[in-house]
Amino acid sequence: MNALAATNRNFKHAAKLIGLDSKLEKSLLIPFREIKVECTIPKDDGTLASYVGFRVQHDNARGPMKGGIRYHPEVDPDEVNALAQLMTWKTAVANIPYGGAKGGIGCTPGELSVSELERLTRVFTQKIHDLIGIHTDVPAPDMGTNPQTMAWILDEYSKFHGYSPAVVTGKPVDLGGSLGRDAATGRGVLFATEALLAEHGKSISGQRFVIQGFGNVGSWAAQLISEAGGKVIAISDVTGAVKNSNGLDISKLLKHSKENHGIKGFDGGDSLDPNSLLTEDCDVLIPAALGGVINRENANDIRAKFIIEAANHPADPEADEILAKKGVLILPDILANSGGVTVSYFEWVQNIQGFMWDENKVNSELKTYMTRGFKDVKEMCKTHNCDLRMGAFSLGVNRVARATVLRGWEA
Ligand code: GLU
Repeated sequence: MNALAATNRNFKHAAKLIGLDSKLEKSLLIPFREIKVECTIPKDDGTLASYVGFRVQHDNARGPMKGGIRYHPEVDPDEVNALAQLMTWKTAVANIPYGGAKGGIGCTPGELSVSELERLTRVFTQKIHDLIGIHTDVPAPDMGTNPQTMAWILDEYSKFHGYSPAVVTGKPVDLGGSLGRDAATGRGVLFATEALLAEHGKSISGQRFVIQGFGNVGSWAAQLISEAGGKVIAISDVTGAVKNSNGLDISKLLKHSKENHGIKGFDGGDSLDPNSLLTEDCDVLIPAALGGVINRENANDIRAKFIIEAANHPADPEADEILAKKGVLILPDILANSGGVTVSYFEWVQNIQGFMWDENKVNSELKTYMTRGFKDVKEMCKTHNCDLRMGAFSLGVNRVARATVLRGWEA
């Protein structure tokens, strides 16, 4: 199912659950603003290459719009729209004073040199600099982008508006980035997983985990889960998959992956068909890569008891229905992976105050926010007698709706 269709379906379901006014429902479905720009750069060999860049600003009722910028060949308007909308509900679930946005450029970053990526990022920033800003829209990293990308955006934006570190988050620490931001999404996944397991009388230690994706989110989640005593028995990335029923040595896997640009060839386990990773026997499955990977084709074969959505929209509504019948519990993306944007908020606050927190403060505040988010979602589940996804969506939609009504409709 198309990402936007899936997200809209979840939104409409939540709107019905909370009895949302139909005018409000219609207005929340339409993004605040959609930007599409042409980005042409000279390649290193002197030829020209053109790319399409997007920024969708979904809603700003609760504060500046916030969300990552993704560099990936599958970036398209519908996907960016869906991801922008998810950011609106995610920041509301986390209860941070932001709205939602998302951006992206349709490209294959691995095929571009560092200087080509820098030129592409600068051209994109030139095209959108008037529409982003500290109090309007604050980008961050996502798939295919990283702190260096944010440093280029910051530098290019500052040429037009003066030095403005708070215009992006997920920056290098040397440029005002926050300690703990790099690990934040993975650490948030750990805290959210702990909260869910505790509800069921379980803890991280003793559980068997399977993780799809070994980028920023998957690798930090794997590291922190194994440090907390969890057994990570299988992991995949774009190069392959590896399995070890006794638990993978994550530090060794990280070292191998850095040296070999992927986990393929790691000798601390048996290689596995990446297509069968999601249906491996385990207790907790953590999709931490692309969207739409759990769908009606494979949902029936999933053997995990819990799914923690570290990726954005990894499971579509058809899969949700199948998994609910099987008794599989899903901790939804807009709660499970909200640690990244939460520490982005801490970074923005530190930049605005001109003050730097130590890492312990960042991590302990993150734990407070994740645990509170989980508790608030559970309360919505009780009120509306619904699953965790609908609990999270109805919490987010309700908070945004309240802010919208309070701000009023007068033009
Ligand atoms: N790209 C991340 C997400 O999907 C982080 C966004 C942010 O920090 O603004 O939540």
